[in-house]
Amino acid sequence: MKKKVYIAYTGGTIGMQQVDGRYQPVPNFLQSLMAANPAFQHRQLPDYHISQYDPLLDSPNMTPADWSRIARDICHHYDAYDGFIVLHGTDTMAYSASALAFMLEGLGKPVIFTGSQIPLCEIRNDAQENLIASLLLAANYTIPEVCLYFHKKLFRGCRVVKVDAAGFDAFDSPNCHPLAELGISVEINWALVRPLPTHTLALHELATPGDVGALRLYPGMSARILENILQPPLRGLILETYGAGNAPDNDREFLRVLAQAASRGVVIVDCTQCLRGTVDLTKYATGSALADAGVISGYDMTPEAALTKLAYLLSVYDDVTAVKTKMQADLRGELTPNVHTA
Ligand code: ASP
Repeated sequence: MKKKVYIAYTGGTIGMQQVDGRYQPVPNFLQSLMAANPAFQHRQLPDYHISQYDPLLDSPNMTPADWSRIARDICHHYDAYDGFIVLHGTDTMAYSASALAFMLEGLGKPVIFTGSQIPLCEIRNDAQENLIASLLLAANYTIPEVCLYFHKKLFRGCRVVKVDAAGFDAFDSPNCHPLAELGISVEINWALVRPLPTHTLALHELATPGDVGALRLYPGMSARILENILQPPLRGLILETYGAGNAPDNDREFLRVLAQAASRGVVIVDCTQCLRGTVDLTKYATGSALADAGVISGYDMTPEAALTKLAYLLSVYDDVTAVKTKMQADLRGELTPNVHTA
């Protein structure tokens, strides 16, 4: 029996066409290109079904409502397919892949996000390889995770960041090795792949994702700006700090504003602006001052993973202490357990 793969086509460059000199998603254009291309009829490919979303989106236009739609769609077709592909624009793909990783608990089949930097309609493109490799991986390897495939590498979805606006090597997961690398052979890093779940798939919708935000620290940021963003309805903030998780400890007002929000129950999570490495709030006085103010460590999570994880936890738990505990625990492979130093 041929394996079956479900493709949720949400939009993105991969299926775009030039209209008035600019790339735009055009309904049915991708499908017509695939139908005319013998590579997509190859006998080694699984059977696949493409479900085209309406409207097709350039991914900066996506919101958490779109994450819900994708997650519901996968759950709805879960039993009928061996694996899933989400065709998605690259700009916000790291956010969507992270969100889905938390929303789909107990995933037992691969869900692979992919897209491209150059659309399939161009003669020189990365769309064909990314899509064909994703089809083969989704059909033939039981990797029970939300993943992202790009340029010969399969990454864990809740570990990726978009690192290049133009290159084919657009994604990286700086704190986690790829789950698979595709050269002459397909090398799966099985030691890293998460085990099959012991319970059935559960969908967790994000209740009020808009109540979680992110703020990148910069030298001279005023306490007033921080105070403004920490006002209700905000319930959680990813504070993107310097280096090992440091922020100014010589600005009393800045620390007071943080402590006041934390005591009101706002969950403030410290993630580093650095691409690689971890937050360690015990290392410098400028880090421990944040811990004293009630900020918790995001360890080596990407800001994308931390933001979507916090939205997920605030949907699932009423109790702020439970949210903080789970935020610092490894739920889907999004943080490295042995970097827990603070
Ligand atoms: N702007 C596009 C998007 O994110 C870029 C891409 O797909 O590569 O939808």
